[in-house]
Amino acid sequence: MKLTMPRSIYLSKRVNRRAIPSPLRNCAKRNLELHPVFERVEGLRRAAEGSAHLSYSEIGTFRHGNEVHSIPRFCFLGPGSTEEPVRIGVFAAIHGDEPETAHAALEFLERLLKEPERARGYQIYVYPVCNPSGIRDGTRHSRSGVDLNREFWKGSKEPEVYYLERELGVLLFQGVIALHADNTTPGVYAYVRGATLTEALARPALQAAEAFLPRAAGSVIDGFAAQDALIRHQCFEGVLSNPAELHPAPFELIFETPQESPAELQVEAAVAALNRILLEYRPFLAFGQDL
Ligand SMILES: [Zn+2]
Repeated sequence: MKLTMPRSIYLSKRVNRRAIPSPLRNCAKRNLELHPVFERVEGLRRAAEGSAHLSYSEIGTFRHGNEVHSIPRFCFLGPGSTEEPVRIGVFAAIHGDEPETAHAALEFLERLLKEPERARGYQIYVYPVCNPSGIRDGTRHSRSGVDLNREFWKGSKEPEVYYLERELGVLLFQGVIALHADNTTPGVYAYVRGATLTEALARPALQAAEAFLPRAAGSVIDGFAAQDALIRHQCFEGVLSNPAELHPAPFELIFETPQESPAELQVEAAVAALNRILLEYRPFLAFGQDL
């Protein structure tokens, strides 16, 4: 993949392992280079310590061989959302060879810290690295050799899936957004699932992303019938999603950027789409969610 973001963000730096705070020390057991994605997670974790809006935790710790991994979670509580905030989940890098999506999720949070009003009324859970071993290895699959994004809600034994399913099952998000980067499609597109209103969110989200990258053309994208860069209610089995039985159905959107494009444009496109979704979903809340 091409990474043309500022080199300070994307290049690994040699670091003194003792200087790495926990939990990153565990991740760095075998390879003393701290991956730029984890470096950025760590920067944001520190920023969260002094923030009234942002908090950090890990949803689970597990082993692959000798290495200990954990899945980081940030929670951004927007202003005015102490009573009954609307919970949105943003999931990135379930495929480890799509670090652009992790950077997009982290960039989204970094900008929310500067402009918390964008998140008014929302509690936004962001999982920037759903597949930590895959990110470290630069592979789509996890260290177990499994495509985690085909394992959901089918009794998977993969620890990443177990912990992510637990989040989805306990937090019962009103909206779930998964970020992906696709190296076979030269444009942005989205899978629309769940609530009917998802399409009403996806259209403006794609429009916002188009300021940075073109929309995918064609009537077939990623093997599915598509129209205006939207794939409706079809997807691969076992992708990261809400538990099936939720009523009213939450909105579910999979947003894909063209991985052959410069990484900074993919990040900008994804952040623009996320911010637009926050904006567009707000009026729907006034009418309830059974749409
Ligand atoms: Zn993917």
